[in-house]
Amino acid sequence: MKFDTRVVHAGIRPDPQTGSIVPPIYQTATYVLEEVGRDKGFDYTRSANPTRQVLEENLAGIEGGRYGVMFSSGMAAVDSCLKLLDAGDHVVCSDDVYGGVSRHFNQVLSRYGLSFTYVDTSRPETVRQAVRSETKMLWVETPTNPLLKVTDMEAMAGIAKEHGLYLGVDSTFATPVFLRPLEYGADMVVHSTTKYLSGHNQLIGGAVVTNRQDVFDALKFIQKTIGAVPSPFDCWLTLLGVKTLHLRMQRHAESAQRVAEFLQAHPKVAKVTYPGLPSHPQHEIAKAQMSGFSGMISFELVGGIPAGKAVMNSVKLCGLAESLGAVETMITHPATMTHVDVPVEEREARGLTDGLVRLSVGIEDVEDIVADLEQALAEA
Ligand code: PLP
Repeated sequence: MKFDTRVVHAGIRPDPQTGSIVPPIYQTATYVLEEVGRDKGFDYTRSANPTRQVLEENLAGIEGGRYGVMFSSGMAAVDSCLKLLDAGDHVVCSDDVYGGVSRHFNQVLSRYGLSFTYVDTSRPETVRQAVRSETKMLWVETPTNPLLKVTDMEAMAGIAKEHGLYLGVDSTFATPVFLRPLEYGADMVVHSTTKYLSGHNQLIGGAVVTNRQDVFDALKFIQKTIGAVPSPFDCWLTLLGVKTLHLRMQRHAESAQRVAEFLQAHPKVAKVTYPGLPSHPQHEIAKAQMSGFSGMISFELVGGIPAGKAVMNSVKLCGLAESLGAVETMITHPATMTHVDVPVEEREARGLTDGLVRLSVGIEDVEDIVADLEQALAEA
């Protein structure tokens, strides 16, 4: 099946009992056994649920992987991947990750004996230099949140292979429409399904897709043991959202390109970062490994922090909101919202300034999005 067909059909068959074209919601905690020791493949919903299983197979098929494992949030998905490690292990991680990820690594997992080195993974030589004998995992976000740094997947897979490291890729911003890290040799791909995959701001969820039987077995064990599982209803809503993923992503990307070019030409905008602009430092890598540049833009204003705040407070169509990747356009102030727990020195070191504005371009008419930004920029 070609990709767009997989998006609509992967893992989904008409319900054998009724022919229902939409998979039923099995909103149940448990399952009645036929006799002791004989179930129908399900015994308790923390371990497995038929609606969840359809979604797991659907996302695995779309990502080009053999196995999918669903979690109750993107953070639970990230956490479960890190639980493949043991105390004493070391992780080399992209320096510009979602603030919740670095908060989890620095304030929770570091108390359990894991250690982390953050490097600019868009520069493979810095990754190579950071690897030490205790390193067990390379954790990459591409494009990163919020600075949209793009990391060369082929180079990362080479380093991971050379040093025997797990390669985990948070591909939330790219989506499988534009990048499929397993094809480059990643061991696990993570998505916050809260974002583009479900796509309608209707739920919180996370997924891991892998080709490795050992990784799948370990993640299933973690899923059932810890129990950070999504509800059957949230899985069902995600399945509905995913059906239009390819169409939505094309529109997100087309509109984001138009908005990025508008911002770049605006006299009050000092800097625009969008992987689809030739001025983006990794534009060539993005072009080579992604089939589109997705819908996220970050920018800074000539008037710095006050101007950025004026824009964010003046938008009318764009929602000033945490989160991204939904049909509605959303504008965010990373320094006080998504990345508030990243220490100021660290934020400054990675270039995440207090004046940075992040935009998740939705699927409204792009001229309305541009007009809203234009009127907001007039206030800056
Ligand atoms: N990874 C990335 C790149 C994110 O942007 C986010 C959330 O914004 C997460 C992971 C965490 O996902 P969730 O909010 O679903 O827990």
